[in-house]
Amino acid sequence: MPRKTEEIRHENLVRLIHRLLIGDASRGELKNSLKLGNSTLSYLISELNDLGLIEEKKRIYRLGRPSQVVGLREDAWNVIGIKMGREGVSGVMFDARGRKISAFSRPILSYMRSNEGYAEALKDVLAYFHSQEAESPLLGMGVCSSGIVDSHKGEIVYSPVMNVKHLNVYTKIKEIFGEVPVFVTNDVDSLATFEAFLNPRKDTLLVSYGIGIGASYIHRGRVFHPVQGLSSFEIGHTVVKNEGECYCGQTGCLEYHSSEYAILREYFGLKESFKDFIEKEEEVFREKLLELRKKAQDPDNELKGIYKKAFKELAVVLGNLSILLKPVRVVLFGEGVVGDWMAQLLFEQIKERFDPLMAGDFAIEVEHRLRLWEEGAAFAAILKFLPAYISSKRVK
Ligand SMILES: [Zn+2]
Repeated sequence: MPRKTEEIRHENLVRLIHRLLIGDASRGELKNSLKLGNSTLSYLISELNDLGLIEEKKRIYRLGRPSQVVGLREDAWNVIGIKMGREGVSGVMFDARGRKISAFSRPILSYMRSNEGYAEALKDVLAYFHSQEAESPLLGMGVCSSGIVDSHKGEIVYSPVMNVKHLNVYTKIKEIFGEVPVFVTNDVDSLATFEAFLNPRKDTLLVSYGIGIGASYIHRGRVFHPVQGLSSFEIGHTVVKNEGECYCGQTGCLEYHSSEYAILREYFGLKESFKDFIEKEEEVFREKLLELRKKAQDPDNELKGIYKKAFKELAVVLGNLSILLKPVRVVLFGEGVVGDWMAQLLFEQIKERFDPLMAGDFAIEVEHRLRLWEEGAAFAAILKFLPAYISSKRVK
């Protein structure tokens, strides 16, 4: 049965906005990338114009004639992105062109790391945005958190690094904002949403590296999620050895053996357990960590040797994942990734250990552009709630 014209039109409106999320475009560019005829495109542009979501303006080149481009109006919507992590709860409100409107954060000190502490900090952040007089309607809210997250329930299921179990974020937001579209997701997954949007054709394993190690898998242009809504690829706590007490309570986790904690332990001869380190790192070890990251930009042989030893287990995990998933790319990012040599070192170690016919043909690269977590959370919310937002505008 042919789909209803109305349905197709709505889908095209969403596609057009999606294209504009990447940047302004001329009618010609829109026609090519959306594969639409002139008259259909004109209809769509005029409807979105009437809804107050887009506008046409002049793009001036240094040479030649100015041309008309279509772009999102900054007041088309507002969106709030919130990051919940070990160091704090922070929120940023963005306009529809992705510009920061306002920001508010609550640092988390070690004694606050519990469900109650995070709920309190989240409440403060929400109260700040709720008290703001926003000029544009709120499209939705995206919250990202470290650990295992249940997007269906809007709940942080388990984050050992935050010392949080079963914290329902959605209900906390509802208490302050009432019925507002909320998308709760894992932090690495929220950044992967960008990557999936920009590079939908490449199956990619995104790996964050620092004191923690996380990952996200982009498959067929989407961030992979099991059916029950839980985030996956919590690779930091996959077990790789029979020794090494992790702060999560397990023995032999990847984070114990391969994260920056492992590097610091070797390099500075730390005696603290991983648990103590995670609880106090901010106050006591921050300086050492920054010193390490600076040195690692151009490491001497001793330091490189320590990374090599630590990356051994990470290489095994990534090699195993490549056997299972066959990604085209592995992308490394995060505070602990301070040089391209890290990708090269990992790649060499994977090649040493795995047969290319087994692990498949993939490239490892470093993502240097660090996006804000809050930006990722907000973007994930935009993609999720845009269709409903456009519908709500159209019925008014
Ligand atoms: Zn662990």
